[in-house]
Amino acid sequence: MCSNHKQFTVTLGCAVTVLTAGMLMVTPTALGQMSQINNPDWSLRSPAIHWPTGHTPADADLFAHNELLIHSACSSVWPYLVDAQTWPDWYPNSHNVKLLNSSDGKLHQDTRFAWNTFGVHIESRVHEFAPSSRIGWFGYGTGMSAYHTFLLLPAPEGCRVVTEEVVTGSGAIEFRKTDPGAMHRGHDLWLSSLQNALSRSTSDATKPLSPKSQAPGFYRAMLGSFEVTALSDGTAPRHVDKILSKPDIAVSEYAADHEMEPIDLSINAYLINTGAHLVLIDTGAGELFGATSGLLVTNLEAAGYRPEQIDTILLTHIHADHSGGLSIGGFREFPKATVYVDERDLEFFVTRKDDSNESEARITSIKQSRATVGPYLEGKQISAIKQNGEIVSGITSRSQPGHTPGHTAFLVQSEGHGLLVWGDIIHSSEVQFEHPEVTVQYDVDAGQAAQTRSQQLQLVSDKGWLVGSEHISFPGLGHVRKVGSVYQWVPIPYSATVTELDPK
Ligand SMILES: [Zn+2]
Repeated sequence: MCSNHKQFTVTLGCAVTVLTAGMLMVTPTALGQMSQINNPDWSLRSPAIHWPTGHTPADADLFAHNELLIHSACSSVWPYLVDAQTWPDWYPNSHNVKLLNSSDGKLHQDTRFAWNTFGVHIESRVHEFAPSSRIGWFGYGTGMSAYHTFLLLPAPEGCRVVTEEVVTGSGAIEFRKTDPGAMHRGHDLWLSSLQNALSRSTSDATKPLSPKSQAPGFYRAMLGSFEVTALSDGTAPRHVDKILSKPDIAVSEYAADHEMEPIDLSINAYLINTGAHLVLIDTGAGELFGATSGLLVTNLEAAGYRPEQIDTILLTHIHADHSGGLSIGGFREFPKATVYVDERDLEFFVTRKDDSNESEARITSIKQSRATVGPYLEGKQISAIKQNGEIVSGITSRSQPGHTPGHTAFLVQSEGHGLLVWGDIIHSSEVQFEHPEVTVQYDVDAGQAAQTRSQQLQLVSDKGWLVGSEHISFPGLGHVRKVGSVYQWVPIPYSATVTELDPK
């Protein structure tokens, strides 16, 4: 602590009285500083920041300093900071920002706003507001009180953006104990996303007349008394002939269907509201697959839900496009959820001891899995599925090994209606219903995956089960029909109203 006592006394007025040699008595205002003893940000504190009384770095239970030189004028950076409602468009650690008393939708002196960040709901109020120069707000969440400030300093190459935050209270102490670097990483993400948002806007020489975005990607229906909401995470364009085991078949099937590669493969997830539980089956790709995906939380919010309301997550398997959305920038997107995943996938992709004999692609996959599933392991929020059985009332797991060792489907049943949600039994509806023997390069055991696919197609066509299929065009809901010795995908009829999905 206080390694440079003189400077510290001058800048912050922290008083340390030396009593006897080797014995220090610390005044109450210095207690916060003691908590920052191992915080590398502590020595970087900017003397130019205006801190309100009671929220100075010396009071902090949690403190972060971050800065970044952005190659734009401070006057260009400023509009991004005050347009708080659009933060979630570019800063993935912010959600659901609602301004409570602003006439033009922007932050001003004393604007109050509610939002979610770091998995916590925060009520904020702007305290300092100096256009293109300074903005600071108080933030209040359960067990914590914060002051967060941005300082914009003109520099010859652009704008030096400094951000610091002081958080106090039991929630802050808890946060510091579980992950002391979390706030620093989150703010780093904020600054780098700010830079990205600015560079996107300046490289857009010709701006479209209207925003080129799709309609929100959710589709709602009932299954007995359960509400089912199909959620789009977006799409992943793929040269399918390069990933399927029989490229000739892929080329001829897509040509016959008048489709051109790359093909947009959907990434779907399914939200089940059972009345007792809010269950999300798979989480999309998060930040791992680029800009055409990672839309799950946006679409979840468009559908009227918030990530922190989800209590149960079921993973069909651990792969970037299914489990990647669990965490963004190392932070849990679903702070209150227990994640159920087959123990074989957990071992294979996350907790295994030895990666030495694995391919580079597999090692990347393991690293990504540790980064996205890992925070839930640390939070003791993982429940390993050991065998087929009920997870919550009305939802049972069914093992479908092959694509991954623990690949699992979930059968959702209410009042005699049923829906089987599966992950990667089908990647290409154009090819694999007619040719179930065609495998995909992402299969861990291609032979077993093909065998499982044939069994499952036979099963659902025999039983007439409704299927939710995560890579078939959104919403990926339909039936499988057997025609001779092969199969056909029959999408459900679209309904403009919320109707029974399985009307039999
Ligand atoms: Zn997949």
